[in-house]
Amino acid sequence: MTIELSDRVKAVPPSGIRRFFEIAEERDDVISLGVGEPDFSTPWAARDAAIASLEQGKTSYTANRGMRELREAIADYAADRFDLGYDPAEEIIVTAGASEAVDLAFRAFVNPGDTVAIAQPSYISYEPGVIFAGGEVLSVRTREEDEFRLTVEALEEAGAGDAEMLVLCYPNNPTGAIMREEHLEPIAEFAREHDLTVLSDEIYAELTYEGEHTSIATLEGMRERTIVFNGFSKAHAMTGLRLGYALGPADAITAMNKIHQYAMLSAPTTAQHAALEALDSCENDVREMVDQYDRRRQFVLSRFREIGMDVFEARGAFYCFPEVPEGFTAEEFAEGVLREEGVAVVPGDVFGVGGEGHLRISYATGLGDLREALARIEAFVADHA
Ligand code: PMP
Repeated sequence: MTIELSDRVKAVPPSGIRRFFEIAEERDDVISLGVGEPDFSTPWAARDAAIASLEQGKTSYTANRGMRELREAIADYAADRFDLGYDPAEEIIVTAGASEAVDLAFRAFVNPGDTVAIAQPSYISYEPGVIFAGGEVLSVRTREEDEFRLTVEALEEAGAGDAEMLVLCYPNNPTGAIMREEHLEPIAEFAREHDLTVLSDEIYAELTYEGEHTSIATLEGMRERTIVFNGFSKAHAMTGLRLGYALGPADAITAMNKIHQYAMLSAPTTAQHAALEALDSCENDVREMVDQYDRRRQFVLSRFREIGMDVFEARGAFYCFPEVPEGFTAEEFAEGVLREEGVAVVPGDVFGVGGEGHLRISYATGLGDLREALARIEAFVADHA
């Protein structure tokens, strides 16, 4: 007997990145620029708070929406840092990573057959999430000549005005693109005009170099139609603690909580204690990590230019997105540089339309390894010129 799988699960192909990890695991000299997680450890104060909470036996479930003090701290942080005003009682839900929050949103708002427009290239989880929820994906292609910002022309070209929902991720994984207020205004206008719900994944908001992050939810008429996602994985280097949150109108957050309370009960309690401390006392740790990412970003961008690979000026997250040299597909380049030089990078195609011909390079890796990896990429390019 075999267990019959659901059509929704069968409709989603396995992750395109996995094959590269398998090759990388065969050898022990590989430098990985492939992973999307900080190389820093969680700031000590947050770790200590987690340890103390365990010592004090704080290992029960919390409120479904998360500990009240944590929701209050998130509300204060979002208001101070990004001008986002949300009521901790009704407009915030704490989840097991931003991933859970994004999944809840799809499940809470998508009806069978609804169309969800996704600005791509983008993080790989949105598309499967939409399919698991029974929706249809509409890929909206962003372009390098627009520095991978979403434009109204791109939305119109894809026919996104007929969609029910729009997913945005800025600062962007995988391109490192950011969108400033003047770039978000026309998108907000389009969303209002076509009555789109906007899911805005802002998990890299703190990792904005040159200027400050603007949330689309702060623009006129957007708060009531937007869900903002954020979390502790990136800025606070807490990936394994699994803690994120969503901000949105009370009815929408209550609907997400309806699923969360049955599927999850509550986000990990130990992680909630760590997160509370992270917001309370780890601002300087975040600044220091962001400074280091910025230094690495500048180094990596300048090295790609020296090597002669075109790369646009990524200003956010911890990725850059160079073009592969002529004569290669992204996949061929990624496979070649891994086999011949032992550097793991991710071909842009896995991030959806617009990613072809590009590589995602993560600089969440120490400068020493980055230096060596770039030297190996340079050698690979020279060998195949
Ligand atoms: N959104 C984006 C854009 C990401 O890059 C990631 C992690 N790679 C996530 C969400 C998932 O974050 P979390 O660890 O909070 O689930």
